[in-house]
Amino acid sequence: MSHAPDHDERLRRARLALDGLSVGDAFGERFFGPPEDVLPRIASRTLPTAGPWRWTDDTAMAASIVEVLATHGEVDEEALARRFGRRYREDPARGYGGTAHGILQQLALGAPWRLVSSAVFDGQGSRGNGGGMRAAPVGAYFADSLERVVAEARRSAVVTHAHPDGQAGAIAVAVAAALACQHRASPRAPEAFLLEVCRWTPAGPTCEGLERAAQLADVSPEEAALRLGSGQRVISSDTVPFALWCAAGGLSSFEDALWRTVAGLGDRDTTCAMVGGVVALACGAVPAEFLEAREPLPVAS
Ligand SMILES: [Mg+2]
Repeated sequence: MSHAPDHDERLRRARLALDGLSVGDAFGERFFGPPEDVLPRIASRTLPTAGPWRWTDDTAMAASIVEVLATHGEVDEEALARRFGRRYREDPARGYGGTAHGILQQLALGAPWRLVSSAVFDGQGSRGNGGGMRAAPVGAYFADSLERVVAEARRSAVVTHAHPDGQAGAIAVAVAAALACQHRASPRAPEAFLLEVCRWTPAGPTCEGLERAAQLADVSPEEAALRLGSGQRVISSDTVPFALWCAAGGLSSFEDALWRTVAGLGDRDTTCAMVGGVVALACGAVPAEFLEAREPLPVAS
């Protein structure tokens, strides 16, 4: 199988996105708990200490995407479905959602992904935030062509998310990741960044949320979370707009971006995974202190 001439550089970016995504995932996961415990730690920006920060489903699935990109140089749906299923079977206790358990059990058994992903939610397919949570490496790999980012992000989502808005979340996050790769050369203000993401995202609730996010210039993360949602319903449209609002305003500091994201509470491993994956690409690196605290990435399966 032939790869792009710059496959290694593309893969380097995809792995940087995975580092950022997994650190965000594992960081955010450490802030679930009683508000009287969590809120003071966020207010004082006190990093979680005990033990390695354990990553969750966001990282497991994004690692599978990076492996498929490494092998195929594109998102091969069949290969991705098999890897999702295999990794789930080997390690199912990673915080997968209820519907995801059902889908991934079927994929692990070898069921056709088209049938499995389109059978859930009375045949509508999932519009959950799981397509977006794992999409940053796709945008990183295909960053030189936003048309390609859109097509490949959709393919990365469709094996589990048959609903168009579930796919829109993956497209939006992947486009944001691709724009983040260009950020140092051609920086965009938050509003312009979000509007450019919107331009590439299929019409629907997630895109509408991004348009609203672009109008929230000077509000606090708490206020933005209140207005946009921060994943309380674990769907694309109540997770991706807030996460990309945090990323758009935090492209110059990985650490600051994660603290602002987790302040929105909600589905905080997932919002922080989305933000970490995007912002790592703009910053060019993940702070060592954060990388060292994260549990080692899943081994290739
Ligand atoms: Mg998770």
